[in-house]
Amino acid sequence: MPTCENCNNKWSWKQTLKITTTLNPELTCPYCKEKQFQTLKSKKKMAFLTPTVLLPLLLQIFFDIPRVIVFSLYFILFCIVMISYPFLVEVKSKEEYIGE
Ligand SMILES: [Zn+2]
Repeated sequence: MPTCENCNNKWSWKQTLKITTTLNPELTCPYCKEKQFQTLKSKKKMAFLTPTVLLPLLLQIFFDIPRVIVFSLYFILFCIVMISYPFLVEVKSKEEYIGE
């Protein structure tokens, strides 16, 4: 779970989810109201996590899987991603850019 670099308060799972689901790249700390940014490392982890949800689609292309199973797989994976991703979020007071 992310810890605010400014006030050192750890964000809860619920707070992290709420803060990161806004499309704004600036994440406002719920404790000190300071702007925080997701670290590059954390963004990379997200980039790996998101395609996991599309895995059933790939499986369906290569194997003859009943639609019910594919949809349940989607649902399960979606839940896993939603539950696990706040644990992978890391924040910093300064925004990081690729190549820096
Ligand atoms: Zn803070």
